[in-house]
Amino acid sequence: MSKTALITGVTGQDGSYLAELLLSKGYRVHGLVRRSSSFNTERIDHIYQGPQEAERRFVLHHADLSDGVALVNLLRDIQPDEVYNLGAQSHVRVSFDAPLYTGDVTGLSTLRLLEAIRASGVNTRIYQASSSEMFGSTPPPQNEDTPFHPRSPYGAAKVFAYWATVNYREAYGMFAVNGILFNHESPRRGETFVTRKITRAVARIKAGLQDRLYLGNLDAVRDWGYAPEYVEAMWRMLQHDEPTDYVVATGVPATVGQFVKTAFAHADLDWNAYVRYDPKYERPSEVDALIGDASKARETLGWRPTVLVEELARIMVDADVRQVDDQLAGAVVRIDR
Ligand code: NDP
Ligand code: GDP
Repeated sequence: MSKTALITGVTGQDGSYLAELLLSKGYRVHGLVRRSSSFNTERIDHIYQGPQEAERRFVLHHADLSDGVALVNLLRDIQPDEVYNLGAQSHVRVSFDAPLYTGDVTGLSTLRLLEAIRASGVNTRIYQASSSEMFGSTPPPQNEDTPFHPRSPYGAAKVFAYWATVNYREAYGMFAVNGILFNHESPRRGETFVTRKITRAVARIKAGLQDRLYLGNLDAVRDWGYAPEYVEAMWRMLQHDEPTDYVVATGVPATVGQFVKTAFAHADLDWNAYVRYDPKYERPSEVDALIGDASKARETLGWRPTVLVEELARIMVDADVRQVDDQLAGAVVRIDR
């Protein structure tokens, strides 16, 4: 019997890679999509199956994480074996501008979903997309035992969601796990996260479409991995015998400035000629350094990253160069190409 999964946030970077992974494993995949006035399914259009298609294995449902009743109804109808809660207002800088909204969608919605599982009586495993932003100002290296000290409404909301997940595991015996994922990127990363902002700018500068890139703090240290490898870790967490929490990271630190240099050098450009500082991109409180220790995921799940930061920057620059070339040639642009 093939398994059934429900993915919230299926239209996002991770949701799209996870849907591909689960479909390749023979799952029936249901995705929660929120209503938008313009198309928001660009990352999953290549795997979309219309309602008329026979034996559909990928089905989309309109709902919103703020609507608890819709979540109960959806769970009861789908009866998933696994739920992956990836939906969130996921941008740290935006969380300072929309703190209450972020608290609701990124924090409280996890509790809504856990409670919806309980209310619907569905017997399912649940993965919660926790974040290294929960560690905030606690110095690296960070692992599963590191205390949390979030530095943004986003980080605080993720801490709430983390503890709600632990509590439902302890209180109700739910198979509920937190994946504490460090930053992970890809050609599908949202355009306003720093890596994608940089690689997209490199491609546009190379093509003569842009002549400046404005950035904030170049000294922040991050541990950047490759998103397709990170969704594999999510899946492995739900296949394990015991529900427990894991850090997922490469353990390799780099500053934003180093990412800039690697990306520009890959396109034979001198970054100094194009990058300028704009305080607008600073945060009211910054997370200076995130470097993960993923020993537990390696030892328990056999999970290992293979793409490290320099290769990641090159993959993303190449993809953005191809996308700009396609745009200039007037071709139909696919987000991954
Ligand atoms: P994205 O921002 O790419 O995707 C977020 C998804 O959530 C989108 O599908 C979005 O829909 C959906 N969403 C937002 N608000 C709602 C809502 N009210 N109801 C239903 N769906 C909603 O994030 P990523 O794919 O990068 O990340 C996936 C998850 O992992 C997120 O929870 C993120 O916070 C977390 N995370 C990510 C890390 C990273 O480095 N990428 C690191 C650690 C944790 P729409 O497409 O319509 O906007
Ligand atoms: P985050 O780690 O989840 O906040 O991911 P981001 O990609 O948004 O930011 C990573 C780091 O890059 C943070 O320390 C930011 O302060 C820094 N940064 C510097 N300039 C920029 C910028 O222009 N945009 C973004 N998003 N981040 C920037």
